[in-house]
Amino acid sequence: MKRVVILGGGVGGVIAARDLSRKAPAGTQIDLVDREGRHSFAPSYPWVAMGWRRPEAVSRPLLALRARGVRHHRAQVISIHPAERTVRTDTGELAYDYLLIALGAELDPGAIEGFAEGANHPYDLRAAERLRDAVRAFRGGRVAIGVTRLPFKCPAAPYEMALLLDAHFREEGIRHRVEIEFFTPEPYPTPAAGEAIGRAIESLLEARGIPLRAKREVDHIDPVNRLIQFKGNGSSRYDLLVAVPPHTTNAAVRTSGLAKEGPWIPVDPRTLRTGYDDVYAVGDVTKIPTPKGNVPFLPKAGVFAEGQAKVAAANILAEIVGTAGAQWDGYGVCFLESGHGRAGMVRGNFYGEGPPIRMRRPGRVWHWGKVLFERRWMGSLFRKRV
Ligand SMILES: Cc1cc2nc3c(=O)[nH]c(=O)nc-3n(C[C@H](O)[C@H](O)[C@H](O)COP(=O)(O)OP(=O)(O)OC[C@H]3O[C@@H](n4cnc5c(N)ncnc54)[C@H](O)[C@@H]3O)c2cc1C
Repeated sequence: MKRVVILGGGVGGVIAARDLSRKAPAGTQIDLVDREGRHSFAPSYPWVAMGWRRPEAVSRPLLALRARGVRHHRAQVISIHPAERTVRTDTGELAYDYLLIALGAELDPGAIEGFAEGANHPYDLRAAERLRDAVRAFRGGRVAIGVTRLPFKCPAAPYEMALLLDAHFREEGIRHRVEIEFFTPEPYPTPAAGEAIGRAIESLLEARGIPLRAKREVDHIDPVNRLIQFKGNGSSRYDLLVAVPPHTTNAAVRTSGLAKEGPWIPVDPRTLRTGYDDVYAVGDVTKIPTPKGNVPFLPKAGVFAEGQAKVAAANILAEIVGTAGAQWDGYGVCFLESGHGRAGMVRGNFYGEGPPIRMRRPGRVWHWGKVLFERRWMGSLFRKRV
């Protein structure tokens, strides 16, 4: 009997659990560890922040994976010991034959002075609810929205949030009382998709009256005077601040010996294998070089976590049953909600192989594409094994 342990019940974790439970030979034991009791669908967090979704509607109990034969442990991963093939959690120790790490990125608001006190964001479910309340209460003034540090997950999400806020204030009839500006350390939006797409997103912002302040990195935030101080490059006043918090990984990852050159785990770009043959890592926790891509490292996004989890699960299965493994191709697709029932869509190969990445301009069809994707995700993933 082989024992597969999956760390994390987010995008990568639940996809790997689904594929392994469908295809693994009888007797394979699959354990999934997550500190939360529920899986939450982050692409819907901006909709929670706009009041279009209730938090319960965008999460599902991880216990439902039991119907697929996956054992869910609600526990905090404390440490990972690849040489001993064990994982320590706050409820005990787990031994494995194969380990799949999908622990995602950890938000690190404390890395910037004043962030926790001064900023709102939609980067976790509870924060998205707080942002919703702040937006509802906002009746006019200066909105500063942006990115504090690189890398961060879902390169399009903050731009999407800016367009959604603009649409909201227009629908409320108060846009003339609201000034919105966007700041980022990036040279232009979503550099991983290339400059042409970045400039197209910048034009979308400009058309809505949202100037882009690029190459600006936040030094600290002064919540008393409502001021963002940028590194060597001036400051900005705000009445409502919406900012992506800095990202890192949690201590279990950082102390595992698997993370190198920073808090992220380098993996083979094709197989998702780490330095250990029996340990795979997928999704936001990884650092993947893209020699032919538009940026040196793959950005963090759910669509990549999903594709990588399928490949890592296939490679674990291949080792268990002795068949050929799979390779990930670097392909991704992403919706960019722009408000008023419309969304754009970006798709292509982020390893820089094949035709350039393309963006479809905002239209109703892509908005419905995202709605259907959300429905399928929340519905089918947590149903019984078929
Ligand atoms: C606002 C927002 C919008 C987004 N929109 C999109 C989008 O439109 N398209 C897209 O592709 N991506 C989007 N993303 C990004 C996407 O959600 C992430 O890239 C994706 O969830 C990464 O999957 P993952 O499995 O690597 O990590 P996660 O999904 O973050 O899962 C990590 C899991 O590990 C658990 N965990 C972490 N540490 C521990 C520990 N020590 N012990 C136990 N459990 C632990 C967490 O509870 C979590 O369940 C968005 C993200 C945000 C925040």
